[in-house]
Amino acid sequence: MTDNEFLALVENVYSFHTKRAPGIPIAVQMVLIAREKLGKVKMGAVAETQVCLSDAIQFLTGCTIGNKYLILLNKIGRYALTLYDRDTGRGYRVSVDIEKIDAEKMPETHKFFLRQRDPSLRKDNKARAESAKIIVDEFIACGRDIFTCQEIQMKNYAKPPVPSAAVCERCGESFLLEAESQKICRVCDGIDDYYSLVE
Ligand SMILES: [Zn+2]
Repeated sequence: MTDNEFLALVENVYSFHTKRAPGIPIAVQMVLIAREKLGKVKMGAVAETQVCLSDAIQFLTGCTIGNKYLILLNKIGRYALTLYDRDTGRGYRVSVDIEKIDAEKMPETHKFFLRQRDPSLRKDNKARAESAKIIVDEFIACGRDIFTCQEIQMKNYAKPPVPSAAVCERCGESFLLEAESQKICRVCDGIDDYYSLVE
């Protein structure tokens, strides 16, 4: 893929993500690497962080949170993804190799992955956009190769069974059961008590 074809693809993912996040070109390249290795199979995906990486996966592979072919393991927090064959569980994990990010040649990218960019970027949109552009330029200039790709076997890749539903004894809404013995939903139980009603 030429740099221009690559950048056109990146523009589409920016639109989907609704922000020109500097991680997106990097995430797009990671998906392309894993997809090329995997070939044409029915695939599943794992994202080890939420951020923009998961949107690049959803947009480019069709594996989404909604169809459950994207498993989000965002608590890991590594900038890495796995694409695998849904029939066999065999696949490829692509991660960012910080040792391939030369702090001299790719200073902004190096800071980005270590979260060492100037804290003022959080509030300054213009400076943030400039930083993002530098990261993308550095990435293209380095030949888009800052990754490690590992062949892996998924340990657990069966689609989870469809849970049965019940009507909550408190709120009266239908909900999906975590266990057959469950009588009330997680909101009424106080576990996911995330809102209060406005009178
Ligand atoms: Zn309830």
